[in-house]
Amino acid sequence: MTIFYRRLPKFDYVRPPTIEQALSCLSPDFPVRHQVFAGGTDMLPKLKSREVAAPPRLIDLKGISGLDRITFDNRRGLTIGACAAIRDVARDAEVRRRYTALAEGAALIASNQLQHRGTIVGNVCNAVPSADSAPALLVHDTQVVCASARGERSVPLEDFFVDVGMTALLPGEIVTQLILPVPQAAERSTYLKLAPRGRMDLAVVGVAVALVLDRGVVRRARIALGSAAPVPLRAFEAEAALLDQRVDDGLIARVAAIAAEHTRTRTSHRASASYRRSMLEVLVRRALSRLAAPADQPALAVEP
Ligand SMILES: Cc1cc2nc3c(=O)[nH]c(=O)nc-3n(C[C@H](O)[C@H](O)[C@H](O)COP(=O)(O)OP(=O)(O)OC[C@H]3O[C@@H](n4cnc5c(N)ncnc54)[C@H](O)[C@@H]3O)c2cc1C
Repeated sequence: MTIFYRRLPKFDYVRPPTIEQALSCLSPDFPVRHQVFAGGTDMLPKLKSREVAAPPRLIDLKGISGLDRITFDNRRGLTIGACAAIRDVARDAEVRRRYTALAEGAALIASNQLQHRGTIVGNVCNAVPSADSAPALLVHDTQVVCASARGERSVPLEDFFVDVGMTALLPGEIVTQLILPVPQAAERSTYLKLAPRGRMDLAVVGVAVALVLDRGVVRRARIALGSAAPVPLRAFEAEAALLDQRVDDGLIARVAAIAAEHTRTRTSHRASASYRRSMLEVLVRRALSRLAAPADQPALAVEP
């Protein structure tokens, strides 16, 4: 059983001003995920409960100037720096307009206090299947930029999630930013979450969908599912079933069933595997129906 309210273990604390200095502080003897932190909303409780062993030094990324920026340009798309707060992402005008699912997912994370402190990149690097930003980032084809002393590389988000709590980060690498390409002008997206308590509750399941419709026919489709498998999942089979089809209630029901069929849900104290599968089907149906509705519907399902 987890024991709360324990004191933090002893460790050195460093707040380097540049990425290069942060990289040089990393110890080769510990995984990066036990050494760096941004908001600390996942990291500090884990240290207190001794879920992770204290590293020799804890590296605070929030001292690195410019890493909290959120920028958009018409060529590169949206860039979210590693220290951009969840709240700032949820309220950003370009995110709300062009990447609506992400604005909605971010607005549904925890509480206002946690959203001011925690980061979207931390939510991704923590790599739990219920992370509310993950399905939204997946439907927007996010690339994860990883930096190390060897240079920079970019990893598609769907390859970044390896297992529960495990990412494709190599030893000595830190995530510096997320890049979301410019969506097509006609693309609309949304995120729906099932959480019994409404706020301050992890997703029993979460669903993000992005669609491009041309006079009722699907020209591009992305569906991603949270808490549907050990990692946040793209529903490729369901996406393929939508492509070049005219959207109607029958198609939506068929596609939702396909999405649920290809999940690997698990039973936990929060929900059974079969309940999760049924609710994923319901949320995919609702998300598709919302996006198939006329575009004069409210842009955001959730206000941050
Ligand atoms: C009470 C409570 C309620 C919560 N509710 C929700 C919820 O409803 N939905 C939800 O999705 N989450 C929820 N969370 C989880 C949490 O708030 C998020 O996961 C948060 O986004 C983590 O961001 P952070 O900056 O605080 O991460 P940190 O705690 O700083 O880091 C998390 C992990 O990511 C690693 N990491 C962070 N940044 C980097 C980087 N740049 N490069 C490499 N590794 C990095 C760290 O080493 C650590 O392992 C909740 C947490 C609490 C405590």
